[in-house]
Amino acid sequence: MSEWTPDVARLQAHADEEWLAVQRQYCGRLMAYVARRVADREAREDVLQETFLGALRGIGDFDPIFTFEQYLFGICKNRTIDHLRRARARTLSSGTDEDAPPPLDSLAREDDTPSRIAGRRDLAQSGARLLADVLRSWVQETWEEQEFTRLMVIEALFSGGWRNRDTWKRFGLRDETSVAGIKFRALKRLRELAVERDPEGLLTKMLSEALDAGDGDVHFDVGELWKRARVSCPSRHWLARLVAATLPDGPSSFVRFHLDEMHCEWCQANRDDLELSEREAELQPLLDSLQASTLRYLHSRTNPPEHRSNGPG
Ligand SMILES: [Zn+2]
Repeated sequence: MSEWTPDVARLQAHADEEWLAVQRQYCGRLMAYVARRVADREAREDVLQETFLGALRGIGDFDPIFTFEQYLFGICKNRTIDHLRRARARTLSSGTDEDAPPPLDSLAREDDTPSRIAGRRDLAQSGARLLADVLRSWVQETWEEQEFTRLMVIEALFSGGWRNRDTWKRFGLRDETSVAGIKFRALKRLRELAVERDPEGLLTKMLSEALDAGDGDVHFDVGELWKRARVSCPSRHWLARLVAATLPDGPSSFVRFHLDEMHCEWCQANRDDLELSEREAELQPLLDSLQASTLRYLHSRTNPPEHRSNGPG
């Protein structure tokens, strides 16, 4: 029951069908994200239009550290922020604040090419890739072991920045030392996973430095990477089962925590989309117009009028 994902090489080759499939697949969840933030219907459609065109233009720089959905969501977020900024500028210049815009300060615009994350601080890009890979593997094996409390505790600490004393209460653990124990064992396992993948020791050194910083708190880039590489985001089929109320208690506890306490905006968008599947009919005209503009863009690139017979250029 794995989710459809596009063939990025075909997207990079500007294959029409692949791009149209992308739009059919992702239009609903992107609209769900934008709809939570942009009130005006026409403006929402503009944001979506700009998102898909941005994805087309940027696909050559696609970084496989991220999934395609993450790539698309990152662009959508930026276009949404751009729109909200323009709307706010207009509101300010017109001197009214009736339609108070959402709190922009809480929205940080990200680079369209998320690989820039690796350039921050002294993290080498390859280090960030390895770290994301290690974190994903840890999440995966913890999920398979059905250790959902452990998974939530680590997400709360790494990604949520929770303190030990808040964490043990939330999860009904014995005391703070239980949290410290879970963290200690997780870090030990992360180190092992790192060593397996990193014979040269680059990542292992980074992780150790993270551990030594402060009193064993791992914030720094691990938390940022956790969120930006979305290492713990459940696949859409898990969200579908949550919506259908067929998800067992264990995974359900984690998925709810991730949505409602970690406030993962992309999983929320997917959930909204799944809950509102009756909106498909409403989305169809939008999808038609998105597809038309995508095809225009693709054809203007691959068949410039003056070289119509010379194949892709
Ligand atoms: Zn998520």
